[in-house]
Amino acid sequence: MITVDTAIKIVTDNTEILPSKTVHFEESLGFCLAHDVHSDIDMPPFNRSAMDGYAVIAEDTAKVPVELTVIENIAAGSVPKKKVLRGQASKIMTGAAVPDGADAVIKFEETEDLQSANRVKILKSVSRGSNISKQGEDMRVGQVVLSKNMPIRPQEIGILATVGKSFVEVFSTPTVGIISTGNELVDVASKPSLAQIRNSNSYSLAAQARNLNAEVEIIGIVKDTKDEISSAIRMGLQKDILILSGGVSMGEYDLVGDVMKDLGTHIYFEKVALRPGKPVIFGRKDKTLIFALPGNPVASFVTFELFVYPVIHKMMGLTDVHRTTVRAALETEIIVKRRRREYRPAFIRLQNNSWIVSPVEWHGSADLLATTRANCLMVVREDVERFIAGQLIDVILLD
Ligand code: AMP
Ligand code: MG
Repeated sequence: MITVDTAIKIVTDNTEILPSKTVHFEESLGFCLAHDVHSDIDMPPFNRSAMDGYAVIAEDTAKVPVELTVIENIAAGSVPKKKVLRGQASKIMTGAAVPDGADAVIKFEETEDLQSANRVKILKSVSRGSNISKQGEDMRVGQVVLSKNMPIRPQEIGILATVGKSFVEVFSTPTVGIISTGNELVDVASKPSLAQIRNSNSYSLAAQARNLNAEVEIIGIVKDTKDEISSAIRMGLQKDILILSGGVSMGEYDLVGDVMKDLGTHIYFEKVALRPGKPVIFGRKDKTLIFALPGNPVASFVTFELFVYPVIHKMMGLTDVHRTTVRAALETEIIVKRRRREYRPAFIRLQNNSWIVSPVEWHGSADLLATTRANCLMVVREDVERFIAGQLIDVILLD
């Protein structure tokens, strides 16, 4: 049986980045840039006041208090008309262009209005450059401001607006089809009768994929027969990624693996040394990557996070494809039952400036409710025999 680390390497090694497409920048949130973006302007575009106050010559404020003559009132968006000379000041607002001659701005709070309208008393000295944002200090014309493979977050949207980039090239996100298998499954609207359960995996898996900006279609529920499984898989082969849940264990009705093989799927692995989620199949049929995940809801959740998450990220052009892992101190001892990699739903929190993690109460791979009390997965490594309280452990952050 292969290890989790080997399985993750196999899935990512067999994933290719998708073609790019052009989108309006307002629609680009959550996508990944397919080219560098250059600035067409300096930012700030002119020497800009960072305060409401007076534009002055710093040397004039060497000895305070001092009175200066106010020659102009400059609002943001208006072009200064007068050069500031020795003994003079211009009233200036935040965001306005600093007039020629002035080399500092003193804020209102450090001045005093005099009775005479065009005089101001400066109460504090300022040094050259104070409260002035220099032209081009944030970005220069022609500079690469965003680079290829960067994820587009709200702050990148703001930069696209700043540099006037209305249309951008992004990598496409994958199309994902989801199939749930099981004679016992009924849909959400039905009340399960004896021996039935509601299909939850289709919806949790769809939500996991949509969270990553994938285009998801829930194909439906199929019975545990080769015919039904086979025709559902064939429908799903137009997708970039096809996810099945259930029907991959050793039971008499676990037929998904056989059907995948009958259809000519190339199988990369069928089992991973992992808990929960040992029976997990990864294959490729034509361009479609097929993941057959175990039916138990926590196993399907965890195996998506481990194997499908990095594949979606790689397809959409990201270079950092995995979830963030941190090290946190265990609150309580944990007992390792079998030397196989385990992922346990856990809760991480900050206490006295350090990260503390504790497992949530959990009854095993069917207990999805436990994951609603968790914000991370604790990684119980296969090469460690026991974990004592206070020991540092790897934690995969989910939120
Ligand atoms: P299987 O992997 O098909 O052996 O299923 C393992 C367990 O997961 C069984 O108890 C199933 O009833 C349950 N299960 C399978 N598919 C789903 C699903 N789509 N939603 C919720 N539970 C499921
Ligand atoms: Mg089943």
